[in-house]
Amino acid sequence: MTDLDLSGRRAVVTGAASGIGAACARRLAAAGAEVVVVDRSNDGARAVAEEVGGLPLVLDLGDLAAVDAACAPGGLLAGADVLVNNAGLQHVAPVEEFPVETFSLILRVMLEAPFRLARAALPHMYGQGWGRLVHVSSVHGLRASPNKSAYVTAKHGIEGLSKTLALEAGGRGVTSNTVCPGYVRTPLVEGQIAAQARTRGIPESEVVGQVMLAASAVKRLLEPSEVAEAVAFLCSDAASYSNGSALVLDGGWSAR
Ligand code: NAD
Repeated sequence: MTDLDLSGRRAVVTGAASGIGAACARRLAAAGAEVVVVDRSNDGARAVAEEVGGLPLVLDLGDLAAVDAACAPGGLLAGADVLVNNAGLQHVAPVEEFPVETFSLILRVMLEAPFRLARAALPHMYGQGWGRLVHVSSVHGLRASPNKSAYVTAKHGIEGLSKTLALEAGGRGVTSNTVCPGYVRTPLVEGQIAAQARTRGIPESEVVGQVMLAASAVKRLLEPSEVAEAVAFLCSDAASYSNGSALVLDGGWSAR
């Protein structure tokens, strides 16, 4: 495990009620951070916050006015020492059938809200000369797949945002990096199996092997705890020269 001490630090993790975000909340709390568990799920945010001894913040990141209100100076989000932009959602459909409202929602949650949260967190980080911005991107931040136009657009966008933040912040003790997982065993992926089967006209039992793991040389799903460990590394002193980088955990997918 990465040597990481976040005692006295506040870590804000979005989408932390489930999957990768919950794993990050557990890992950063184990390193001593006070974790703010941000999610639209009231029950989920409270349950994870209670588990890790953190603070729940129920917030719909698709509602940008609510995001701005939560980002007010002196609030939980503006005081973040570590910000993990993780919340996300998926919709699988070809472009000509893709609902325009869903495209807009995915970009708000996965690109606009991360920009606003980083924007709000930077003054505190700059003030103390230390901060960590980690964005849970995806192999889809580096490669496209059919039928995921909004998701691929948002993930490519977060790669650009992270690199820009890295250039602006790197000289001030603040780093910005992404992690780029392949398919992770979470509810988000489980929810895609039926949609992928329908869109591609194959049985659900064949989706993981034929679609999700087709490009990966390592033939298994990634675990949320493995992604959380990569996030922990990027928060550590050992990673202080990693800035503007993408830490890829894709079983070799993007090596093709
Ligand atoms: P998940 O569905 O298990 O968890 C996502 C969390 O985000 C949920 O708790 C959900 O309530 C929250 N969320 C969604 N919309 C929200 C909103 N509008 N406001 C606040 N919270 C909201 O998904 P996961 O697989 O853990 O995904 C987490 C991140 O990892 C996402 O950004 C996803 O794109 C990325 N990712 C996942 C995989 C994978 O295979 N699971 C692969 C690469 C990247």
